[in-house]
Amino acid sequence: MKKVLAFDIDQTLNVAKTPITDDIAELLVKCLDHFEICPISGQKFDQFLVQIVDRLKNPTDEQLSHLHLFVAQGTQYYRYENGEWRQIYNNPLTDEQVAKITSTIEQAARELGYWEEDKLAEGDEIIENRLSQVTFSALGQKAGTKEKYAWDPDCKKREKIVARCKELSPEFDYEIGGTTSINAITPGMNKTFGMTHLLEELNVKKEDVLYFGDMTQPGGNDYPVVEMGIDTITVRNHEDTGFALRGILGIL
Ligand SMILES: [Mg+2]
Repeated sequence: MKKVLAFDIDQTLNVAKTPITDDIAELLVKCLDHFEICPISGQKFDQFLVQIVDRLKNPTDEQLSHLHLFVAQGTQYYRYENGEWRQIYNNPLTDEQVAKITSTIEQAARELGYWEEDKLAEGDEIIENRLSQVTFSALGQKAGTKEKYAWDPDCKKREKIVARCKELSPEFDYEIGGTTSINAITPGMNKTFGMTHLLEELNVKKEDVLYFGDMTQPGGNDYPVVEMGIDTITVRNHEDTGFALRGILGIL
């Protein structure tokens, strides 16, 4: 029997960048009574609150104590203790690393004609410093879901940008995630880092964990988890995840 259910967020628990549905929220609360629940994604802490935590209906402190937030691909870890969220560890990039990655991605995207500054909403940005990683979002953070889906459904544009980035600055790793995103990290600062710390912090073995993700193919941002030998369920969307969770809760 698994002890830990770990989840990618975008396209696994939600429609990318939006709060989870009532259905997923209800299922997660039920799961908190039986498992340690670990969302792990490239997003920032405040987005974990908006998209997941704030959507849970009246969770008890006891239930929240089983919710573990692995922020920015698990390079930051938050746990609920004594009525509040506490940061347990943080491994940020240096300012020089952030500057180098930012200029690399911008140059690659511009060369390839994928620097879509004109399509940005006011105040939005294409490249965002998420502390433990730098994230390229082709149409910015605020673009509509439809536009985002349409931009690169087969990942071909992002594969080209990644290939060019690797030529320009091979010292970093670049991963395709979400619908328009590329995450740049220092080698090893991917979900392997987060999942390794998860095992350590929760004092569990690989075999105790079941992971859900939508980008489990080689090059996808969930692939490092597969490579670690952790049992993985590949989903297309949150409906698939809901279906699987119902099955898991049904056999308890
Ligand atoms: Mg995903």
